[in-house]
Amino acid sequence: MEVKVLDTLVVGGGAAGLATAIGLAQRGLQTEVIGVPQEIRDDSRSAALFATTLDFLDTLGLAAPLKKAGWPLAAIRLIDITGALVRSPTTTFKAAEIGQPLFGYNIPNATILKLFREAAEDTQNLTVSSAFIEGFRETGDHLLVTLSDGTERRTRILIGADGQKSRVREAAGITHRVKPYPQSAITCRLKHTKDHEDISLEFHTREGPFTFVPVGDYESALVWIMKPERTEEKLAQSREALAQEITRRSAAALGTVEIIGNIGCVPLQKLVADKLVEGRVALVGEAAHAFPPIGAQGLNLGLKDVEALVKRLGEAKGAGKPLESALPAYAKDRKMDVEMRSAGVDMLNSALIADLLPFDIARAVGLTAMKDIGPLRRLAMKVGGWNPIFGTKGAA
Ligand SMILES: Cc1cc2nc3c(=O)[nH]c(=O)nc-3n(C[C@H](O)[C@H](O)[C@H](O)COP(=O)(O)OP(=O)(O)OC[C@H]3O[C@@H](n4cnc5c(N)ncnc54)[C@H](O)[C@@H]3O)c2cc1C
Repeated sequence: MEVKVLDTLVVGGGAAGLATAIGLAQRGLQTEVIGVPQEIRDDSRSAALFATTLDFLDTLGLAAPLKKAGWPLAAIRLIDITGALVRSPTTTFKAAEIGQPLFGYNIPNATILKLFREAAEDTQNLTVSSAFIEGFRETGDHLLVTLSDGTERRTRILIGADGQKSRVREAAGITHRVKPYPQSAITCRLKHTKDHEDISLEFHTREGPFTFVPVGDYESALVWIMKPERTEEKLAQSREALAQEITRRSAAALGTVEIIGNIGCVPLQKLVADKLVEGRVALVGEAAHAFPPIGAQGLNLGLKDVEALVKRLGEAKGAGKPLESALPAYAKDRKMDVEMRSAGVDMLNSALIADLLPFDIARAVGLTAMKDIGPLRRLAMKVGGWNPIFGTKGAA
């Protein structure tokens, strides 16, 4: 009996894994995606996706429903409440200034996952399963993969999109670097009495950003970064007391706030895989890189990986070349961008929490220049995309 060998087995049912699987199957690769949760939990978190990311998702037919379900982001305002001796001026960056109607859309994570899973289930050449990977070994011209439900798969290419604790990364022997930060993020969704006017508000505090991103009518997603030991104290408060503190801390910029839905808490760290590819294995998304939620970097960068990998494997398939021959080019496409963005976010996050006068002065001088000098501000937005301070536009 002939043994069925998949072209690609994608491990991970998060946004990166589902988008990879859909993209590969659409290019004619026989694909299975595993680790897709049967139930999607609403974690009250959202992801701001840049216009360039949505352009890519449009090629997969995924952008239109996301835009419909998400909220447009027209501007970002940075407000320094570090209490530094030299304070940065409040600066607003508008997408319209660089001729763009919007920077992107903010979409609830649960909505992204639901839409991507439905699309995956409707995609030809693609099987969706909830099984987890246990391990794999090389056998001839493919890999033999063992799953948690006791079954096996054979695949030419194995893609690790299984998040920060990636089993695929570990089983492939790909080492990684981790830098824990003295920070955690409290996350929740808020209803507020003032209109956000499609503007994201990013308050810079000594413990990290305190950010409101529009996600609905009179609704914003909050990401509040603070010292880990302080999260316990905050989470022990009643929802009403916490909401009052958020209103106070934001100087009621959005009026009075009310917390709706779940409150989450995430420890922050930087993680970078030393390689994106090993033999027949490739990593995408947070299996390859993760960093603090500053400047809406994470999933945008992960979807850049997806775009590059789908392109390279699709080309190899189209040309009738061995699929594994495409992987080194994928690693080359992505390595520099991943390293630079991880280092950039790390540097800016560290500078913000450092409480060192030279860093405060540099930030204040930079923001004053951008506030006052239109061409400089526009250049920063063109280079930086969504958040000029953290430089978030993925490299092409
Ligand atoms: C507070 C916060 C705010 C953020 N805001 C933004 C933002 O505005 N914009 C942005 O771009 N990014 C943002 N991010 C980052 C973004 O949320 C992540 O980058 C993204 O969700 C990671 O997606 P992923 O698919 O790579 O990994 P994950 O979402 O972690 O998915 C991993 C998947 O792998 C599965 N899995 C795990 N182990 C196995 C196994 N052994 N076998 C099979 N499957 C397995 C899991 O079940 C899961 O489905 C934010 C992050 C945080 C913490």
